[in-house]
Amino acid sequence: MSNFMPQLPYAADALEPVISKETIDCHYGKHLQTYVNNLEKLIQGTPMEHQTLAEIVAVAPEGAVFNNAGQVMNHTLYFLQFTPRRASDSPQGRLASNIERDFGSFDELKRQMNSAATTLFGSGWVWLCQNKDGKLELMACPNGDTPLRHGKNPLLGFDVWEHAYYLDYQNRRADHVAALWDIVDWEVVADRMQ
Ligand code: MN
Repeated sequence: MSNFMPQLPYAADALEPVISKETIDCHYGKHLQTYVNNLEKLIQGTPMEHQTLAEIVAVAPEGAVFNNAGQVMNHTLYFLQFTPRRASDSPQGRLASNIERDFGSFDELKRQMNSAATTLFGSGWVWLCQNKDGKLELMACPNGDTPLRHGKNPLLGFDVWEHAYYLDYQNRRADHVAALWDIVDWEVVADRMQ
């Protein structure tokens, strides 16, 4: 039996005030748990039962399996990319130099990612990812879509479904997205690079 539920590396209240304990309890404890439960039920007794989450995301047919698998993958990357005690306030090393190469500066990446997250219509995600050539780029994904489905490597993702911010920020998606930069664990993001 697969168990796709990731464990949080921090306490539920550790990301306050950027993300409240109430939001973690609901977003991680209820929304993500439901995606995990749905996926595990859907693949039970099928060949996908023995595949990794990344394999399922890559090959699952459009519909319920892909929607739930994509959301489990997206949320796993999302919750593990944050920390209340980070070593650095900004990207370091190869991640920093690639951001400068492909966006001009870290501030310009932030500006473009905030803009993409604020203007994405409806529910979805905005990802900083590596394309097949190793170049960094932004990708806006509707609903449960994920860069992995498109052969890209996701590094940092902002969830702009209302369930990610409505308890703390109501309709102020831009304020929520702007605050997320304060809790990104740059070592985790850099470790995802290929
Ligand atoms: Mn979410």
